[in-house]
Amino acid sequence: MSLAFALALAGGALFIAWIVSDPVLAARRRSRLHRRSLTDAERRTLADWLPVCQHMPHELRDRLERLTAVFIGERQFVGCGGLEVTPEMKLAIAAQACLLVLGRNTHVYDELRAVLVYPSQFIVPEQWHDEHGVVTDEKRVLAGETWDQGRIILSWEDVGARGDDGEAFNVVIHEFAHYLDHESGGAPWIHDAAARRRWDDLLERELAVVRDAERRGEPTFLDPYAGEDRAEFFAVASEAYFEEPQRFARSMPSLYAALRDVYRLDPAAW
Ligand SMILES: [Zn+2]
Repeated sequence: MSLAFALALAGGALFIAWIVSDPVLAARRRSRLHRRSLTDAERRTLADWLPVCQHMPHELRDRLERLTAVFIGERQFVGCGGLEVTPEMKLAIAAQACLLVLGRNTHVYDELRAVLVYPSQFIVPEQWHDEHGVVTDEKRVLAGETWDQGRIILSWEDVGARGDDGEAFNVVIHEFAHYLDHESGGAPWIHDAAARRRWDDLLERELAVVRDAERRGEPTFLDPYAGEDRAEFFAVASEAYFEEPQRFARSMPSLYAALRDVYRLDPAAW
C-alpha cells in the first residue's frame, strides 16, 4: 500500500467517524426525521396498534407521529431467534414507546441503542447468590426485559397480545416504563426533593394496598404482579394507565393523578 493511499484511507475513516459522531449533524438528522410525516399506510398501521391515537388531541397525534419517525430512524431493531423485524413491527413498538414520552418535550430514549425482538418468549439464564454465598443457576422465561440503558428485549408474540382478554397487558409500555424508571433512579422527571418524597410515599402506600388486597384474596384493579416490588408496581401501573385509563381514574384516583403529572398526559380524557 502506498503512503498516499494509506493517508487517503485514514483520512476517509476519520471523516466517517466525524460524520457519525458530530453532534451538529446528528441534530440536523433528527430535525429531518422530525419533519418526516408518516405515509397513509403507516398511519393505518399506527391506528391499528394504537386506536387511542385517533381520539387524542390533534397536536399530540402529530407529535406522536414525529417522535415515532425519529425513534425508527435512530434506534436499531435487531431480530433474534430467526425473526425478521418488519417495518410494521418497528412502527408498532416505536409508537407505543413514544406514547410514554409524548407529554414531555425532549426525551426520545437517547441512551437506548437497540431493541431486540424475539419471535416469542425467551429464556434468560440467571445466577442467584444467597447470603451464605451459595450460587443457584436459574432460567427465567420472559416476555420482555430492560437490559441496562442500552437494550430492551421484547417477545413479538407478547407485543401482539396487548389488550387480550380485556386485560391491561402491554409489554412494550411495561418495558419502556422500566427504562424511564431505571434511568431516573425511580422517579421519572421528578427533580424537586419535596415532590420526590411525595412520589415515594404515594408508591409505597399504593403498593401496600395492592399487597394487602392480594393477601386477603380480594381482586385488585392492577394486575397482582404489581405487588412484586416498586419497579414492577410502576411498570404495571403504567400499562393500566395507558390501556384502561378511565377505569384507572375511577379505581385509583390518587395514583392516576400522580401518573398524569409524571407523563403530563390525561388518557382518560381522550
Ligand atoms: Zn417488569
